[in-house]
Amino acid sequence: MEQLSQQDISRQLATVEAQYKALAGRKLSLDLTRGKPGSEQLDLCNHLDGILGGDYRSETGLDVRNYGGLDGLPEAKRLFGTVLGVSPENVVIGGNASLSLMYTVIDLALSAGLRGPESAWGNSDEVKFLCPVPGYDRHFAICEYLGIEMIPVPMLDTGPDMDVVEKQVGEDADIKGIWCVPRFSNPTGCVYSDETVERLAKLGSLAGDHFLVMYDNAYAVHSLYDDAPGLANISDYCEQHGTADSVFQFGSTSKITFAGAGVAFLASSTDNLAAFKHHLSFQSIGPDKVNQLRHVKLLQDPEGIAAHMRKHAAILRPRFEAVLATLERELAGTGMGEWLAPRGGYFISFNTRPGLAKEVVRLAAEIGVNLTPAGATFPYGKDPADSNIRLAPSFPSLAEVQETAEAFVVCVKLATLRQQLA
Ligand code: PLP
Repeated sequence: MEQLSQQDISRQLATVEAQYKALAGRKLSLDLTRGKPGSEQLDLCNHLDGILGGDYRSETGLDVRNYGGLDGLPEAKRLFGTVLGVSPENVVIGGNASLSLMYTVIDLALSAGLRGPESAWGNSDEVKFLCPVPGYDRHFAICEYLGIEMIPVPMLDTGPDMDVVEKQVGEDADIKGIWCVPRFSNPTGCVYSDETVERLAKLGSLAGDHFLVMYDNAYAVHSLYDDAPGLANISDYCEQHGTADSVFQFGSTSKITFAGAGVAFLASSTDNLAAFKHHLSFQSIGPDKVNQLRHVKLLQDPEGIAAHMRKHAAILRPRFEAVLATLERELAGTGMGEWLAPRGGYFISFNTRPGLAKEVVRLAAEIGVNLTPAGATFPYGKDPADSNIRLAPSFPSLAEVQETAEAFVVCVKLATLRQQLA
């Protein structure tokens, strides 16, 4: 950061204070909080309604309107298995939310046990999870709700810091799992390197029985650019290292079709799926197979999914670029913040100078710009550096995203300059 005299800082501060005041006078009402698809994106799939044309038979002749088919339709397993890079027999199709599937897996491992009552994590006095930070607040909320202690692990550009992960797992048998968002991680947007994926696949042998990599591949096919980095296939590594029991993969069409009416899926080893299906059989007679069939009709095959995702990218890309161009123009080289330019996913992760995230979020709220609460990307909502802010540009219109980005940089400047003068 360039060295400024107190006088220079005061002069800059006066300009920024005036910009902030002008923004306040505009009575903005903007929201960059949650990573929801915008209505233009949702409109891409309106023809899901009625797509079956009255034909409710699956490829095996099953009437999808009726009960049954607890683990999903074969054609849905085949299609969504390609998203996770696994064989159909390793897939279970659930309801609309992958988050419910994640919750159910943790609940199963904790209470009933993946291999019967003796194996339940809950038999230990303490159950801990590794949480790469910054990360996804709803993963952390599951742990907090179920009484699982969270241990933060630094997130690098290549994924979780695997030296730290392996050390922790090797030293503490109470650590039962790790959360991962391997492609376009929420919120940093990084894609795990091949080496990270292989080391995650090997954790099962290091940790012993019933350790779980909760591999939430929510953004598996959500590239913004055709040349976005791909992700190594973790199930290939698991096969190589004999650790298939240690990984549960998750995905959904929440950000492919309808966020509130999509299809969720998970994949794991044969034994894990048997335990999962048994657990599920007490909760449901079967999922919404009508919706599964509608999704297969709409998306058809991996090429169909890729073509569809390019339409999403065309809508999202300008929103991301509006934020990134504004950050670059206003803040690059000032030392007032750091960010990455993601090649896919739903978020931009911004780090203020230490101790300023809460203040930036507060300043933004005062002028009608709603940002994700500072700390939300850390376990227990506590960012020790008070620095990370997650920006989610998908939902507002492009004009609103642009306005929000401009207001955001004013708030960052204001908080930083005030801190420098303090
Ligand atoms: N996983 C991650 C990493 C997410 O960012 C989100 C939504 O923002 C979800 C899961 C939610 O997925 P679903 O709608 O399938 O429950």
